[in-house]
Amino acid sequence: MTTIRLQNTKTRKREDFVPIDPKNVRMYVCGPTVYDRAHIGNARPVIVFDVLYRLLRHVYGPDHVTYVRNFTDVDDKINARAAESGRTIQEITDETTQWYLDDMRAVGAMDPNFMPRATQYIPQMITMIEDLITKGFAYPDGAGHVLFSVNSYPKYGALSGRSTDDMIAGARVEIADNKRDPMDFVLWKPSDADQPGWDSPWGRGRPGWHIECSAMAKDLLGETFDIHGGGNDLTFPHHENEIAQSCCASGHAEDGEGFANYWLHNEMLQVEGKKMSKSQGNFFTVRDLLDQGIPGEVIRFVFLQTHYRNTMDWTAEKWKAASNTLRKWRTITSGLAPSVIDDEFLRLLGDDLNTAGAIARLHWLANDPSYDKSMQRSLLASAQFIGLLTPELGDWVQEAPVDFSIDKRVEELMSERWQAKQVKDYARADKIRDGLRLAGVVVEDSGDSYTYDFSPDFDATKLEDM
Ligand code: AMP
Ligand code: ZN
Repeated sequence: MTTIRLQNTKTRKREDFVPIDPKNVRMYVCGPTVYDRAHIGNARPVIVFDVLYRLLRHVYGPDHVTYVRNFTDVDDKINARAAESGRTIQEITDETTQWYLDDMRAVGAMDPNFMPRATQYIPQMITMIEDLITKGFAYPDGAGHVLFSVNSYPKYGALSGRSTDDMIAGARVEIADNKRDPMDFVLWKPSDADQPGWDSPWGRGRPGWHIECSAMAKDLLGETFDIHGGGNDLTFPHHENEIAQSCCASGHAEDGEGFANYWLHNEMLQVEGKKMSKSQGNFFTVRDLLDQGIPGEVIRFVFLQTHYRNTMDWTAEKWKAASNTLRKWRTITSGLAPSVIDDEFLRLLGDDLNTAGAIARLHWLANDPSYDKSMQRSLLASAQFIGLLTPELGDWVQEAPVDFSIDKRVEELMSERWQAKQVKDYARADKIRDGLRLAGVVVEDSGDSYTYDFSPDFDATKLEDM
């Protein structure tokens, strides 16, 4: 059985994953705020946790994993979008929720088992807030707000390991008259007549952001569950606040136990070495890339080439190289039936989701010239396991037939090099190898045979000079 080891933000250690109940392994991942198209950074947690979901289903059985990812459909950014566009909140959230699902499916992500919307869980949020007030962890300000009292939870900051000073600076906390402490955060706030609102014991209002995840996770997964994920920008304050709310509500204010046992955070994505931003002109949505003709499968492949805890760089060179590799793999596996998932590939995935290593292993399988095609069949099974080389994502290859000319030229050069070695013309052989390297073709000799592959820096034009 594949062992799964995960780097747990909570303990700062890589730990063997032991589920509370192997018959029902439970995972919660913070989803998007729905008011616009998802940008490519938003796709990163989706793809990362999709791979973890697939791995958990493989190890514990597809019916024994419950994955929840929410939609935040009540938020001031949504209200602002409605006001500036003259459209209703419902229209905006319905439309962007559907966009999100379409775009994430286009990059091969499976739907989670539950995709709750915050607005469907207002009664559960109100109940939790009332409970926190009764137990002395939250207080109403008498003017329609309810605040969580951070001082009442001694473990606050344990997940991110931040000091109170850091947290105050990081959260850009507002010092407000209604707060007992500047760190206190909003659980409920009053709504004007033109803002979305629900009746509550504190008047008509709406929830603060953090309470929704605590209430939805409790309702769908229980007070204690296995894995909680999201981007590392959420560690503080969002995840600290979720923990504070949930642990205090469930009687774990002293020990900070309960709620999620393993916390996983993906690093951020940047574009061509820079933080993605609209003003820099390097801001893309997933749909922008798909519309440019970059296939969802290629996007997925590029994401998986970087380990989830490293910063990922989206570059044009990477997606071009990824599309070359996928074309090649689709060609050598075409017409074959998938066999078994490669053991080493699974071991790498189980090792804190080492997708980068797992992809390197796929290259290795692809380069094996076995006559019975057993390696290619295993390549197919393994790649499909992480959502690559699937029939669903394969349309783009049929639309644009494989261009063999590059492979053919490399083959010619490789065979010329082979001949040169046979006649001990090492100068010529090395010259060809160096030229190939310069073009980004990685050449590997093993005994009597050789393999080659295209690195992300592959540049076909450099082959022309050889
Ligand atoms: P948001 O809608 O901004 O709350 O983000 C939804 C998810 O995308 C969260 O898990 C964020 O942590 C994640 N996320 C946002 N920006 C990036 C980025 N540049 N790289 C990776 N993940 C991101
Ligand atoms: Zn959340």
